[in-house]
This record gives sequence, structure tokens and C-alpha cells, in this order.
Amino acid sequence: KSAAMAGTEPEDDADELAEEIDAKAVLQRELQDQRKTLPVYKYKDELLKAIAEHQIIVVVGETGSGKTTQIPQYLHEAGYTAGGKKIACTQPRRVAAMSVAARVAQEMGVKLGHEVGYSIRFEDCTSEKTAVKYMTDGMLLREFLGEPDLSSYGVVIVDEAHERSISTDILLGLVKDVARFRPDLKLLISSATLNADKFSDFFDMAPVFKIPGRRYKVDIHYTVAPEADYVDAAVATVLQLHVTQPPGDILLFLTGQEEIETVEEILRRRTRGLGTKIAELVICPIYANLPTELQAKIFEPAPPGARKVVLATNIAETSLTIDGISYVVDPGFSKVKSYSPRTGTESLLVQPISKASADQRAGRSGRIGPGKCFRLFTEHSYKEDMEDETVPEIQRSNLASVVLSLKALGINDLVSFDFMDPPPSEGLLRALEDLFALGALNSRGELTKTGRRMAELPLDPMLAKAIVASERHGCSEEMLTVASMLSAGNAVFYRPKDKALIADAARQRFNAGGAGDHVALLNVYTEWEQSGYSAQWCVDHFVQSRTMRRARDVREQLEKLLERVEIERRSCAGDFDAVRKAVTAGFFRNTAQRRRDGFYRTLKTWRTVFVHPSSGLARVDPPPRWVVYHELVETTMEYMRQVTEIKPEWLVEIAPHYYQNNLDTPEPKKAKAPHGQGAAVVTEKPSPSLNDFFNVQ
Ligand code: ADP
Ligand code: MG
Repeated sequence: KSAAMAGTEPEDDADELAEEIDAKAVLQRELQDQRKTLPVYKYKDELLKAIAEHQIIVVVGETGSGKTTQIPQYLHEAGYTAGGKKIACTQPRRVAAMSVAARVAQEMGVKLGHEVGYSIRFEDCTSEKTAVKYMTDGMLLREFLGEPDLSSYGVVIVDEAHERSISTDILLGLVKDVARFRPDLKLLISSATLNADKFSDFFDMAPVFKIPGRRYKVDIHYTVAPEADYVDAAVATVLQLHVTQPPGDILLFLTGQEEIETVEEILRRRTRGLGTKIAELVICPIYANLPTELQAKIFEPAPPGARKVVLATNIAETSLTIDGISYVVDPGFSKVKSYSPRTGTESLLVQPISKASADQRAGRSGRIGPGKCFRLFTEHSYKEDMEDETVPEIQRSNLASVVLSLKALGINDLVSFDFMDPPPSEGLLRALEDLFALGALNSRGELTKTGRRMAELPLDPMLAKAIVASERHGCSEEMLTVASMLSAGNAVFYRPKDKALIADAARQRFNAGGAGDHVALLNVYTEWEQSGYSAQWCVDHFVQSRTMRRARDVREQLEKLLERVEIERRSCAGDFDAVRKAVTAGFFRNTAQRRRDGFYRTLKTWRTVFVHPSSGLARVDPPPRWVVYHELVETTMEYMRQVTEIKPEWLVEIAPHYYQNNLDTPEPKKAKAPHGQGAAVVTEKPSPSLNDFFNVQ
């Protein structure tokens, strides 16, 4: 193979090239050998036969058996991508989609983004050539908007179906329908848990294909008494395992990035003092926002003699399989979304996991040999306190976004939509009300032109509305930037401990004149843009360049979408009121007023809320009287994050259907009675009832 090159290149280069090609060939052979050791390999022919015979199949197999990485390749090799059709494989988690696509590209010996690619929100790594496409379930949901029959796909694999993410649940209903009028479409529902009957039932008794996994015995150890601080206990357990147990890597489950970073720091500090007699402990974090370069690190084996400890969120429960784990440390918690339709607040709360999750986690230690799982909770609490299964996300989320997508797909009658587990009707009603208030639906529950545009934007409906409304306020360029910054993550600034004061001052400068956090974000981006997207500029101003680069990517994606929904790109040239009005047009529901006692209360629900300490407005004196906020964060108190001052008359101007003229009536006696006698500060026009919405054909 190098002979052809030798004619045109000097000898040395040709030799080097030949060596490189040889090395690649060796790696390829190794990868191909590895593929054959996966449990699914033995069932390849049987599986392909079953797929040929049935349109819909439920595939069940232990995590790590090769479902995600192998089955799409088998189908590709077997000709299911002939004629330019694609294979979609959906994942509930972004990192899983990226990581698995990278692995499969490597196994197939192709460049990521060519034959194998991935598509996640704001990042499309696919091309004309792409035949195997890993994507988040949310992205496939979006593709329905442009291609309701999914005609470019020959196979759809709904992977990790047991996770029951909200998008997966909606997808299940949609693909079931598509399969009816597209007999050529193959559908695979894949799940890691054994109770696949529910999926089979849902798909009219579709056959279940079981891939027997190899699972060694796992010893489970419980704590005798409940742990007061599971982070402390986790660190202690990891260190103890490291110094006392035979070789084998450790997997520790934590709830989020911050916790992982804390534990990483403590472990680094504590292992430094262990001396040379103890083996090295290689610490590998993995969470959703970890930069791509570092994500690959968790799969690299530890150097000889060293032990690896992986600090992971739920992502390592079933989505990603890390080889070589012998010990699992499970504090028994995860961060879950919970939503209160009554107050309209959605929050991420650290909560005990379910028995099913705990068992999955334990199983991660028994893939290469007998494993051990250390549960940092008591056996009693496992048996008596933990729920059997995690409640599906659709039953504990804000449904506005999903309802908007369904409406955009022409599904008006939500009650008869084929949900595997229907969401609570209270939540549906609340979503319909919210969308009505935003002008996305009319009073009969039909999608408006505004709603259609909003649905095209992969953003929360409130933020989507702010962008759509920015056209009218002549500031679509600015609102696009604000939305991109809000979507790029919460870590815009950093604050080194030894330079805290300088960092604070640098940050406050973006908020000159108490402009508010939205305008501050805009200022940050604009200055960075003017610096030529300079990394040094970020350093000088205590801004995280990673977040900025992401914001720029998001902005590029949103620009394209704006074109598609024909929103004119206009700049308000420094008229920040225009920007604040556009923000208000989306977030008017999130209004808070500072009362005479000095506390902020939300207008709608009379909750006492505080300005988040990270907000530029936290240090403005006197604090503004009226504000809108992007979101509420619940810790010991409820904090408003990303806050901007508004004028109350804007509310009446921008959302007249929602707010009437009497914003400034006297304070109610009791904060708890929003509609008490004459106490209601805000009067709402009668909202349409559930029936009004559902009786639309
Ligand atoms: P399943 O979907 O059945 O849980 P997978 O197909 O994800 O199984 O995993 C099969 C094998 O591929 C596992 O041994 C796993 O460690 C490996 N693997 C998956 N992704 C990567 C990656 N990004 N890098 C290295 N190995 C990977
Ligand atoms: Mg998988």
C-alpha cells in the first residue's frame, strides 16, 4: 500500500508512512478482535435474521454487551444503509452520543463525521456520507419537524429506552406511528434492563431479543448506619479500597460536576501524601460538560501498576461502559429534575436513587470478574426506603417544550397521543397555559405563527419567544447573543481565590450602570468578538474561554435557524431597553417585585426569592424594584439567576393578555394566598380550560 506513495515521496517519508500504516493496521486488527469478544457478537446472525423477519424488535442486554456500538455496524454491513438510507441510534445523553460515535468511527476505521457521525443540540458532526448517525433523542424529535416520515432513515434504534427520558418517551409514540405507514422502516428498541415486556406490550407484542450477558457475582456491602456526609464517606471508601484491595479499577457515582470536581480535588490532595509504597491512583472525571478531549481519558487503561478511579454521574450507570471496573462505590444519590405544575418551577434536586438504579450500578463491577459494590447506605434503606423504579421523566418535567413540539407536528389532541405512561393532566394543562400566555397557541389550542417559529428553535419556549419577539424590538442580533450565552452554560466567569477582588471588579464592569445580567452577557460576548475571539482577552477579564467558544458555536447554529424561520437580523445599536423588552417578552412570567420589606416576591406565586450572589444585581444599591429572571435555583433558599431590571409598564405593554393594569395594588396579608380577597397583585384573564384545548380536532 505504501508502494504507490514511494514513487512520489522521498524514501524516508515513505518508510515512515509505511510504519504508520502498519501501526494502524495492528490497531485495527486489535479492535476487530475486541469486537468479536463482545457478547452480542455470537448472536449477530440470529439478530439480523430476527430483524429481517420483524419490523419492530425489542433488544435487551446487559450494559456493555455491545448493543450500542455493534448493532448499527451489523446493520450497516448487512446492507440496511444501501441506497443512501441512514441508521439512527438515539441516546438520552449527549456525552454518550459523542463518545460512542467516536468509538464506532475508530472501529470502522473512518473519520468521525464521515460514515459515522453524531448530532447533538448545537453540534452537528455529520456529513453527506454519514450512514450511521448517533444522536440525542431530542435531536431525532426535532428531525420529525422537517421530515415527519423519517424518510431518510432505514432503521431507527431507540437506545437506552429503559432510561425513559422525556424525549425518548415521545419518540416511542412517534416512531410507533411512523412504522405503521412505513413498512420498510426497521425499528429497534434497546434496553439494558430485563423488564422489557413493557416495551414489547407497547409495540403490540413485538418480539424480545435477549442477549445473554456475562455477569460475574457482585458482593454487596452496606454501611451499618446512615452516612451523615456521603461525599466524605465516598472519599474515605475510595482511599481505603485503594490501599487495601487487589488491583482493579474503581467507579464512584456522584451527582454532578461540582461534586465531582470537589472529590477530585480532595482525592488529589489526599493521595499526594500516601508515599511511594502505595500505587498511583489515576483520577478520571466524567460528566456532561467535560471537554471532549478529556472524555476519552476514562476509557484509557491505567498505566501498569496504577489504579484508575472514575468519578462519574449517572452517565456510567448504563450509557457508557468503562472496562476494567472491579469496585463500585455507590452513595445512592442522583440529581433528578422535578417540576411543580402549581408553581411552574423546575428544579434539579439531589435525591435517593431507585433499587433498579442501585442494582445497575452494582452490576458495573462484575463485567471482568467477580466484583464488589460498596453502598454508602444501609440495607434497611435499600429494602424499605428506595423506590423500585425511577419515575419516568415525563411525569416530573415541565412539558411546555414537548407540547410545543407535538403541536408543531400537528398532534393537537394530546390526550389521545400514544404515551407509554401519560404525563399528569395537571402538567399538560399547565404547559398549554404557558404556551398560550407566550402566544404560541391561540385560545383554541392551535399553533400560531409565533408558535411555529418558536418550535423551530431548540430552546426552552420562553427563550425561543424572546428571540421571536426580538424582531419586533429591533434587536434580534443582540437577543441571539444573549440566548447563546445563556445556553452555553452557567460558568461564564471564574473567580480565583487569590484574585477574587480583581475578578469581581472585572465582572462588575460588564454590568455598568446596573444594566442587568442579560446585557452583561451581551457585553461580554461583544467585547470578546471585538478582541477577535481572543483567548488572552478571556484570561484578562476572568472569563471562561471554553464557555465563550461554546457560545459562539451555539450562536452560529441559531443564526442558521433564524434564517429558516425568517426572522430579520437587526441590531438595536446599544439600545439596551430593546434587549430587555425582548427578554421580558419571553420571561414575563418570571417577574419579581421588591416589596416594602426589602424582599423580592414572584408576581404570580408570591414566593420569596433572592438575587443569586453571582448576579451583577446582587451588588447594586438600591436594588431594582422590578426584575425578570431567567430561572430559579433552589438551594436553602430560592435564588433568581440571570436577573434584569424592567419597567412594570413593559409587562402591560408586552403581555397585556397576561398582566392587567393594576400591577401595583397593595401587598397581601399572607404571602401564601395569591388570590386572597383583593390581594391578588396580578389578575389573569380567565385561562382556557383543559377542555377548551382538548376539544380541538
Ligand atoms: P452496550 O450498549 O450494550 O451497553 P456498548 O456497545 O456501549 O455496550 O459497549 C461495548 C464495548 O465498547 C464496551 O466494552 C465499552 O467499554 C466499549 N466502548 C464503548 N465506547 C467506547 C469508547 N468511547 N472508547 C473505548 N471503548 C468504548
Ligand atoms: Mg449502550
